[in-house]
Amino acid sequence: MSAQDDCIFCRIAAGEIPSDFLYEDDLVVAFPDISPLAPVHVLVVPKEHYENIMDDVPAETLSALAHAIGIVAEKTGIDKTGFRCIANTGDDGGQTVHHLHIHVLGGRPLDPNAGEGK
Ligand code: 5GP
Ligand code: ZN
Repeated sequence: MSAQDDCIFCRIAAGEIPSDFLYEDDLVVAFPDISPLAPVHVLVVPKEHYENIMDDVPAETLSALAHAIGIVAEKTGIDKTGFRCIANTGDDGGQTVHHLHIHVLGGRPLDPNAGEGK
């Protein structure tokens, strides 16, 4: 999938919108959520545009996402205390930005039943 001009995460990943990347490699970037729901709330995003986890995402990209989540957890100091990863998918999943992203939430005890709205 190629970048989409009207996709905010394509534009962030391409560096068109200045963002504070916590992590970047050839396949993924990680940056803070603009409306954090926890002391740590980072989005881990593939550079290529995939609508969501159902969009034939290559295995190497899935692997890069998982790798990046670990790096982000270490860099933000939540690797030992724990955290939550969420990929809202489609309408019932509450997905609002239609470019695959993994929320990484932590820094306080998260309600096990709430999903933190994310
Ligand atoms: P979704 O509801 O699709 O799972 O999550 C989309 C997330 O993207 C929301 O948590 C929202 O705050 C975040 N978001 C939307 N627009 C921007 C933006 O321009 N920059 C950043 N950093 N986050 C954004
Ligand atoms: Zn996109």
